[in-house]
Amino acid sequence: MRYPKLSDYEKLLSGKKCFDCGNDLTGIPLSHYKHPEGWHVDGFTEKRWLYASCTKGRCCYQTSLAKLYFARPVPEELSHLMDESEGDDTPVKVTHSFTNDDPELIAEFKRKALERISGLMNPDKIRL
Ligand SMILES: [Zn+2]
Repeated sequence: MRYPKLSDYEKLLSGKKCFDCGNDLTGIPLSHYKHPEGWHVDGFTEKRWLYASCTKGRCCYQTSLAKLYFARPVPEELSHLMDESEGDDTPVKVTHSFTNDDPELIAEFKRKALERISGLMNPDKIRL
């Protein structure tokens, strides 16, 4: 099983906005670390948590692909890049994906995120 590359995931950031300040995330390299609920990435045996750290001023907000509604473990947008010709892994099923163009959905998602953030000292530990 071959999964989309990190650079393929980075293309998903095109036109997307920082979840905190609204800065354009286009072209920002994705950061990643091992995470059981993350995404499959080519070259890594375990799933990775993928996020872009905002580059505007001191924002530095970490917008994960989850906050941008990209389904795990492989977003529908990248599923055509998967090569199932090697290995006998069970094909990955994409359960759902959302558009992030709906202002009401974004507002609702942000409200929930803020609820979770309040009272927590380390926003890095929040899973959305
Ligand atoms: Zn920002």
